[in-house]
Amino acid sequence: MIYRNLGNTGLKVSEIALGCEGFAELSAKESRKRMEQAMSYGVNFFDMYASSPKLRDNMGYAIKGHRDDLIIQGHLCSTWKNEQYLRTRNIEEVRESFEDLMKRLDTDYIDIGMIHYIDAEEDFHQVFDGPVMEYALELKKQGRIKHIGMSSHNPAVAKMAVETGLIEVLMFSINPSYDMQPPTEDVEQLWADEVYMESYHNQDASRTELYELCEKMGVGIDVMKAFGGGDLLDEELSPFGKTFTVNQCIHYALTRPAVGAIMGGFRSEENLKEMVAYEMATEEEKDYANVLSGLERHSFEGHCMYCGHCAPCPKGIDVASVTKYLNLAVAQGEVPETVREHYKLLNHHADECIACGSCEKNCPFGVKIIDNMKRAAKLFG
Ligand code: SF4
Ligand code: SF4
Repeated sequence: MIYRNLGNTGLKVSEIALGCEGFAELSAKESRKRMEQAMSYGVNFFDMYASSPKLRDNMGYAIKGHRDDLIIQGHLCSTWKNEQYLRTRNIEEVRESFEDLMKRLDTDYIDIGMIHYIDAEEDFHQVFDGPVMEYALELKKQGRIKHIGMSSHNPAVAKMAVETGLIEVLMFSINPSYDMQPPTEDVEQLWADEVYMESYHNQDASRTELYELCEKMGVGIDVMKAFGGGDLLDEELSPFGKTFTVNQCIHYALTRPAVGAIMGGFRSEENLKEMVAYEMATEEEKDYANVLSGLERHSFEGHCMYCGHCAPCPKGIDVASVTKYLNLAVAQGEVPETVREHYKLLNHHADECIACGSCEKNCPFGVKIIDNMKRAAKLFG
């Protein structure tokens, strides 16, 4: 298992992490078995958005004795009413539900207090300028949550949240199809058929900007919906008319800037095995470029997807990484120190490029790599 820094939190999370949906139908004993199985593969990070008391109790049992080995992302604003999950901004309900979560998990701290699901601008202001954020800050001051996070599907709102400097972690939906959708306050739009009937020609700029902003601000992203709710794996449901594999979806999400981990639903033991098998997958198995470059209604032309298809370079330049650092620096209008440091650590640098063109022949997205190497050489020196 590879462990990644989750932004600037200091947390080292397993890149394959555990969502809680897969535990919904399990008994306490089965939940513990599933958790221990995940941990035996090296998973150390799990998300707990669910508010069901039974599920919370079961998860408490599942992590008993393992608390210090796990990084828990627990949600604020997810509550239980009339026997069902409900998102709330009512501060009394928020407090009550968070206390309940800590009690049922039998823990005195939550690593990431994740403010649950903000997609609308109005909602964002209500939360960030109101008692919910005050409560999150109070919990952080008390050490009961170590870091504040927020979950969202809307890049415009997520960007506003990151810009406040108040959140350290963003839980965001990332996959190749959502990355082509413009910002919306209505999450259903991400699934709507008519959206995919239109012709989108490239990645949506607001999403790329969001990932780059997170990288700049040291905000770690953990990913939800990496498989588009399973649609991308299904020939009939995939909006592209082509399927991706589990490895390709994971690799796509993990190669976006700032991403620390992918949350998997793990509805079965098989799911779990399939996801952690990513760690052993070959570069060919992870390669999503062939699917993306062969799409009919969509094009990623000219946009670096960080797929690594351009390798090998005779001078040993890691083109994908150089391009990623170049894009980060360009997006920020300066070269941030962290990006400069990362660039320095590369074994070979852009100024070694001999313009042989071999990478451009291999790039399925028509990226002007030689120009990029020249720009990077100039920018980074
Ligand atoms: S330059 Fe092309 S081949 Fe290389 S990482 Fe970017 S998109 Fe992939
Ligand atoms: S053009 Fe430059 S970056 Fe591309 S393969 Fe040749 S030397 Fe490497």
